[in-house]
Amino acid sequence: MNRILFSSWKGKVVDNRGRKPEEFITPEDLPKDLLENKETKAFMDWDGFVIKDPEVSIIDLCVQFLEKVRDRSCAKCIPCRIGTEVMYDMMRDISEGKGRKEDLKVIESLGDTLHEATRCKIGRSAPVPVLDAVKYFKDSVEQEIEEKKKLGGKR
Ligand code: SF4
Repeated sequence: MNRILFSSWKGKVVDNRGRKPEEFITPEDLPKDLLENKETKAFMDWDGFVIKDPEVSIIDLCVQFLEKVRDRSCAKCIPCRIGTEVMYDMMRDISEGKGRKEDLKVIESLGDTLHEATRCKIGRSAPVPVLDAVKYFKDSVEQEIEEKKKLGGKR
C-alpha cells in the first residue's frame, strides 16, 4: 500500500482519484517515512492528511485525530477548549451512526471559529485537516454518514 491516493499537506493538495496508477503524482513535502511505510493506510496530523487505501473511513480518521487534539488542548482559550470537544463529539457521533449531513455545517463553522479565535498553533491548525477532509471527501463523508446510520456505527 504505497501509492498516495490523496494528500492535503501544508496547504498543497494532490488528488490522484480517477487517475490510472501509473499516472499518480507523488506529493512533495511529505515526510519520507510516510511515503515509504507500506503499512500506513492513512494518516492525519497538524500538517494535513494522506489517504493511501480507498477503503479507509475518512470519518474514523477524523475522530482519531480530533481525540488527540482534544486531549492536547491546554484549555487556556475557550474556543479551543470547547470547540475541540464539540468537534470530537460530533464526529464521534457520526462515526457511531448517530450523525446527520447537517452536522457537517456545524463542524465547518466550529473549525472556522477555532482557526480564527484561538491563541496558538494547536487551536489554529487542528481544524484544518478535518475541514479539508470534509471539503475534499464530501460525497464519501455524506455516504458514510448514511451507511453508518444504517449499520449503527459498525463498518
Ligand atoms: S489554542 Fe493553544 S492556548 Fe488555546 S486552549 Fe488550545 S492549546 Fe491552549
